[in-house]
Amino acid sequence: MAEPLLAVCDLSMTFLRRSSLFGRRERRIHALKEVSFAIEAGATLGVVGESGCGKSTLARCLLRLLQPSGGNVRFAGVDLLSLSDEAMRRMRQRMQIVLQNPFSSLNPRLNGFDLIAEPLRTHLTMSRKGMVEKVASLLAEVGLTSDFMGRHPHQLSGGQAQRIALARALALNPAFVILDEPTSALDVSVQAQIINLLIRLQRQRGLAYLFITHDLSVIQHISDRIAVMYLGEIVEEASSEQIFAEPQHPYTQALLSSTPSPDPASSRQRIILPGTAPSAANPPAGCAFHPRCAQVMECCRTVYPAPRPTSADRMVSCHLYESAQEMEKN
Ligand code: SF4
Repeated sequence: MAEPLLAVCDLSMTFLRRSSLFGRRERRIHALKEVSFAIEAGATLGVVGESGCGKSTLARCLLRLLQPSGGNVRFAGVDLLSLSDEAMRRMRQRMQIVLQNPFSSLNPRLNGFDLIAEPLRTHLTMSRKGMVEKVASLLAEVGLTSDFMGRHPHQLSGGQAQRIALARALALNPAFVILDEPTSALDVSVQAQIINLLIRLQRQRGLAYLFITHDLSVIQHISDRIAVMYLGEIVEEASSEQIFAEPQHPYTQALLSSTPSPDPASSRQRIILPGTAPSAANPPAGCAFHPRCAQVMECCRTVYPAPRPTSADRMVSCHLYESAQEMEKN
């Protein structure tokens, strides 16, 4: 079987933090714990979870903007964690990222032309005429006219700025783009336009996406598969259809219950989660979700629920899906 475009296995990221300003003791904060998934060329994995669950740390580890503490990342058959810094810099031409707030990610001193041409100048040798043509064609691809070459970020709306950020990310013909909450700073109507643009670009260019969001409804139509993260771990992974039709993990069920249903006859009951997600610096024992879970059992307070397949192509970390024998052992 062909290797997927991106294969992530047991990726972990641990930060060391001093317990106080003058304290000598260091605490380990497990921001990512043995995260595994794969993305095929041209496909989208949606990653959803509350703020602080490790989604953005995951994005930075994949691009090696943070050096992971353990695990393995293979992109296009290459082991990324063993590459030299220079080889990784070259590899990032094929792996791009688009961030939540284009106004903080785009240099305010540069106009649209220079923002999009910057990666071309850094990585390729092109004539000025060739560069102008390339920037114009990238602008057209994201639905903007050549007039935007002369505009600075402060002269753009949120949607226009995000289109410029996308054109910049596409300049070097990447195969894979990480979209880190790319629509959450935008109005709802503009969000839909950007999602439709992303879907069109994916079809035209065969792009693979990792789409990070805190809002499950945003990724319903763009994701082939969805990974649900809680406190640095993937607690459920399944196809988008499976997640929306039959969420298995109680946390996924709660996230789904808070998304608006397109069916007015839907009897979906809102599940309100008590409290906020615990700190990764002091995670609960057993299942990290147990202090907020409506279905908590005695074993959940002490025994970690290992990820397990619940069918050929889905995975969940929850004691509810253990066999009777496994339950007995707990
Ligand atoms: Fe809830 Fe227990 Fe499942 Fe954790 S393992 S999600 S506490 S039922």
